[in-house]
Amino acid sequence: MNLADERRLRLRIMDALAEAALRSGGEVSHRQLDALDIGGGQVRRVRDTSRGIWNPQDLAATLSIVSSPTGPYDDSEVVDGLFHYAYRAGSLDGDNAKLRAAIYQQLPLILLRKLGPGRYLPVMPVYAVFDDAPRRRFLIALDENLRFLANSVDLSPLERRYAERLVQQRLHQPEFRARVIHAYQTRCAVCTLRHGDLLDAAHIIGDTLGAGDPLVTNGLSLCKIHHAAYDRNLLGISPGYTVHINQRLLDEIDGPMLEHGLKGMHDKSLTVPDRKAERPDRDRLAIRFTSFLAAS
Ligand SMILES: [Zn+2]
Repeated sequence: MNLADERRLRLRIMDALAEAALRSGGEVSHRQLDALDIGGGQVRRVRDTSRGIWNPQDLAATLSIVSSPTGPYDDSEVVDGLFHYAYRAGSLDGDNAKLRAAIYQQLPLILLRKLGPGRYLPVMPVYAVFDDAPRRRFLIALDENLRFLANSVDLSPLERRYAERLVQQRLHQPEFRARVIHAYQTRCAVCTLRHGDLLDAAHIIGDTLGAGDPLVTNGLSLCKIHHAAYDRNLLGISPGYTVHINQRLLDEIDGPMLEHGLKGMHDKSLTVPDRKAERPDRDRLAIRFTSFLAAS
């Protein structure tokens, strides 16, 4: 396979993976990774079942690497927008040769961030940008726009803020989203809509107010309309897990979205995660509910 074909194939795999992830709130299962339908009757493997790096024989470079915060590799660190991926133990060439090839050929790859047993968040495309041989690690840029920061020893404060923001967007926000939506079994907490591609992970206390922790207990899985209504204080959630609709909306008469989608949710109980430890934090809900009441 020539490099142009390989590049196209990689992007096709990433498109198929992104589509699969979209349906489930951002994550994919090991089964999807082991046999991904990429269209045209083709199925591709996207991870190695036993190791943290997947080097398909027919490709010039590594296709995916796994970041497993609880795994044996010291690979979970992100510094200045670059992800540090440790060499496989006891290996200088072999596996690492194909990751080096990804640097020289500038081929995009997939970072699979392990969320739990059999669950992964695909982050892609990412780029291997530097082989830090003395420290036995590769530096991986989590965004195309970070590829050129690799060799700067010291980032300027502006570059550092930029890198941090991109890491937030590429890694932390999608991870928060996947964890929250998974906790709610891919359902809206208000209306139980089961379409992952129509769900968001809403913050109870947002980033701008401080305390915007990326904890599942500070999140709610909400469909797009209920998320927007919650953010606009047209919908409130009491610390007792009851849905409230703004009085002005309750007095309004309109079509089915207002009648069923919003007014119909008034006084309903919130659908919360099965696991107690993942249910929304009542203290945070109380703070947020105060602003809903004030806006009513
Ligand atoms: Zn909803």
